[in-house]
Amino acid sequence: MELSRRDFLKGSAAGIGGVFLFDALAGGVALAAPIKKIQLTRQGKETPTICPYDASGCGFIVMADAKGKVINIEGDPDHPINRGAACAKGASLRQLSADNPWRLTRPLYRAPGAADWQPVEWGWALDKIARNIKDTRDAAFLPRDKDGNIVNRTESIACLGGSALDNEECYLLVKMARALGLVYIEHHARI
Ligand code: SF4
Repeated sequence: MELSRRDFLKGSAAGIGGVFLFDALAGGVALAAPIKKIQLTRQGKETPTICPYDASGCGFIVMADAKGKVINIEGDPDHPINRGAACAKGASLRQLSADNPWRLTRPLYRAPGAADWQPVEWGWALDKIARNIKDTRDAAFLPRDKDGNIVNRTESIACLGGSALDNEECYLLVKMARALGLVYIEHHARI
């Protein structure tokens, strides 16, 4: 039997209508019940941005309400790289916003051998980090290599950058690492 596209659509609509009618009658739902409208889009100021996670540079749209609070982040459909798509990391961008209730607001410290993390003060944490870096560097600093060449380096510390760092932060981090004599400098997107 020849079935035109129009006939097919008509038949499909009748079938779907029949299913809805059957469901409604079987469940005792009044067909005349008002349909509750739900808002599928939220209104706010849209700002295009670039995903901070890696060098793919996917485009996103950040939406904020009148108070500047982020209410949505989604892939930018007009962006030539991702065309609205997002990988798992990009899809979690909303978690980076300042109003995320799970965002850490103070440093945590887990002592050697301890099972639990303890909240500590920033001053204490920064002093502890600086002390550990200085002690580790001093204990294994190599002024010269085995052939007598001046190298002034330490091979006992590595620096691993994260893709949430922006260009300026990466610049400063690498400058500091090189100044300390580190040679193992990497970025997690390259691993
Ligand atoms: S982390 Fe994902 S969404 Fe972000 S730039 Fe990289 S590929 Fe794109």
